[in-house]
Amino acid sequence: MGERYFNPSQMSLAKAAFDHAEKLVGRYYRFGREAFRDYRYDIRTLAELDVHEIQEGAFAHLCRYRYEKKGFPDITRSIHFYRVCLQDNRILDAVERANSFIKFAPLMLYIAAHELVHVIRFDGGLFDFEAPQEEKNREEEIVHAITRQIMQPVVHHDLNLVLDCFSNQYKIGDLYH
Ligand SMILES: [Zn+2]
Repeated sequence: MGERYFNPSQMSLAKAAFDHAEKLVGRYYRFGREAFRDYRYDIRTLAELDVHEIQEGAFAHLCRYRYEKKGFPDITRSIHFYRVCLQDNRILDAVERANSFIKFAPLMLYIAAHELVHVIRFDGGLFDFEAPQEEKNREEEIVHAITRQIMQPVVHHDLNLVLDCFSNQYKIGDLYH
């Protein structure tokens, strides 16, 4: 089986999921939507990923990059930048394998909100990106619990099925390297 990529309509659903997730996450953390501009992150789908950004079996992989920003007069600041690397094939696989119990849009909404919570917590120093895997597993539980709360105002049948899956058999797999 070869690589499978999102089609154009799935691409736009994924983008809409991140827009929606920004609103929900912003509401939870009580900051306006503009505040997300301060979080430097972007979203890539499988077709755009570098080899090291591809993670077999994960729904998404979160990468952090550092770049130097030259200031004035001579101050160089080190800035972090996050990339949410969506693994199209795994996401499509889950939607197909669940015999349509799991729908694409609610699955993407969960993944989007979950990744934004990671970015906020890493960027705010609430969790160390370089922490050992054991601590990352605990962080993953915390982020899952927060994401569940964030979803509460919009939870519905299809989204509940997604939340149940992430409580049981599903793992996002975003913090594995
Ligand atoms: Zn995660």
